[in-house]
Amino acid sequence: MWYNDSTMSLSKITNKKLHITVLTVLAALTFLATIVSNALFPSDSSVMIGKMALPANSLNGVIQLIMFVFGMIMTCINYRVGARISYVMVALVALYDLFGIMKTGSLAPLPGMLNALVCGGMIAIISKQFRLLERESRTDYVTGLTNMRGFLDILNERIESKLPFTVVYFRIDNFRMINDNLGHDLGTKLLQDVSVKLIEMTHGKGAVCKTSSSEFALVLDADFNLNAFRNEMKEIFGGKFILDDSDYPVYCYPRVYAGAVKYPEDAMEPTVLIKYADVALYHAIKSHNKSLVIFDAEMESEDASQNRIEGIIKECLAGDYFYLMYQPQYDMQDKKLRGFETLIRTLLPDGSYIRPGEFIPVAEKTNLIIQIDRYVLRRALTEMAEFVKNSEDEILISVNMSANSICREDFVDSIRSILEETEFPPNRLEVEITEYSFAESGETTTANIEALRKMGVKIALDDFGTGYTSLAQLVKLPVNLLKIDKSLVDDIETNTTNRDFVNAIIYMGHLMGCDVLSEGVETQMQIDLLREQNCDYVQGFIWDRPLYYEAAIAMIKS
Ligand code: C2E
Ligand code: CA
Ligand code: CA
Repeated sequence: MWYNDSTMSLSKITNKKLHITVLTVLAALTFLATIVSNALFPSDSSVMIGKMALPANSLNGVIQLIMFVFGMIMTCINYRVGARISYVMVALVALYDLFGIMKTGSLAPLPGMLNALVCGGMIAIISKQFRLLERESRTDYVTGLTNMRGFLDILNERIESKLPFTVVYFRIDNFRMINDNLGHDLGTKLLQDVSVKLIEMTHGKGAVCKTSSSEFALVLDADFNLNAFRNEMKEIFGGKFILDDSDYPVYCYPRVYAGAVKYPEDAMEPTVLIKYADVALYHAIKSHNKSLVIFDAEMESEDASQNRIEGIIKECLAGDYFYLMYQPQYDMQDKKLRGFETLIRTLLPDGSYIRPGEFIPVAEKTNLIIQIDRYVLRRALTEMAEFVKNSEDEILISVNMSANSICREDFVDSIRSILEETEFPPNRLEVEITEYSFAESGETTTANIEALRKMGVKIALDDFGTGYTSLAQLVKLPVNLLKIDKSLVDDIETNTTNRDFVNAIIYMGHLMGCDVLSEGVETQMQIDLLREQNCDYVQGFIWDRPLYYEAAIAMIKS
């Protein structure tokens, strides 16, 4: 959208320049016409137009009026340049008339002169109104900072001046969560406080703009110290951020990231600068611990590889080159089949494929994940409905859902309609949401999860133990299953800390009335240790790898 905006404004600027040039020429011609008509027809004479006699004074008045109308139109098109040209015109007319009065001693040119002065005043009013309107259209109403349109103008102006500068993108990554949890008023307060801090952090060496709901763009002078900025970021946003320091203080922990790009070293086009600043910001977010990342060329190739993956995902969606594998989950004690986790796979026409670990993060970033999640749900339920309904055992089908899908207003409706369309029993469906996205969830996500539970759909917390959820959150929204992350299970044989941690999760899960499943179990010793702690279910290569659809069906039937 940004790129379109900047190209659009370029074509608009070119059009405006053309209009103003044409109008200036027309106005100059009318001015000449005034002089010629004055020279040809003395002010007390009449001009014959057909059979009608028109006083020369009136003719001059009409010509002047046309000229002033041109001036006003010019001012409306561009209140800066248009108004300036109009003022020159008005001054010339006024001086010309004054000269006429002084030369002839007659007051005949006086109305023309007054006309000119009144028009000058009107042009000043029009130009002021346009200035105010423009300022408003370039201002973010929450923070009072320059908005995205204004930012693009600043960028274009800086590039026109050809002097080096730096662009920093700054994002409050968990803004949505803070806004949902603390309320919109405090969310607004946070944005306002952050704007003030950012202005201070520029030390008068640049402009701060607000480009989207939780993103800021800084345009900074070339000698701005980015390292000092990085340190200040850590200092100011590293801990608690107090929003209300009354007797009952309210605070939050904003997670802020920034990406910087330099003109002209990294890029010279506004669209490319914006893209690279975004790439650097994305790297900062990905690395979690780095607050500010400065763009380098290697990131560009990574970006290109992401574009390639994005292309492949789109190709797979359009050509239906996805298929599903089903990994069995078993009861830990008697090895009875609990159900299957659905895992997506790609197979392109040329025989190549990409792994979920590669394309799911790109799909999340580009929001293609919403289409993927719907695709997987529809396909899994279609493939499994008949067998699940006819099986004597209560087989569950687990489907992974991205946080981007679950936070959507239409999420519950889309799940309901897919369940109806495939006639899949809702109580045989389990939706897996990662612990990370659960911890980040806002009001809509929470409401959606509750609505699913009311429909009978089960909820599993995936990758549990990777450390994001608070106990308070867990108790507030009970889930059916905790899936202990593979990274914790991996070394329980040797790492006693992890073993204790896993034992504690199992104990806590049971206290809360949840079942507990261990993921990625690969050895018998892991099974033995987990069984000792009464872990309920297991999913891992030790008992089964993800199976093709046919093999999964055969397993249900047997
Ligand atoms: P996940 O949801 O944690 O899925 C479990 C991953 O661990 C799967 O990898 C599975 O093949 C692998 N796994 C299971 N048991 C073992 C084991 O014993 N040892 C080892 N080394 N690995 C094991 P996969 O299929 O490559 O998926 C990776 C991730 O991609 C998934 O992690 C999930 O986050 C995402 N993903 C996969 N399919 C989907 C999908 O349909 N939708 C969404 N949104 N994400 C998906
Ligand atoms: Ca999963
Ligand atoms: Ca997992």
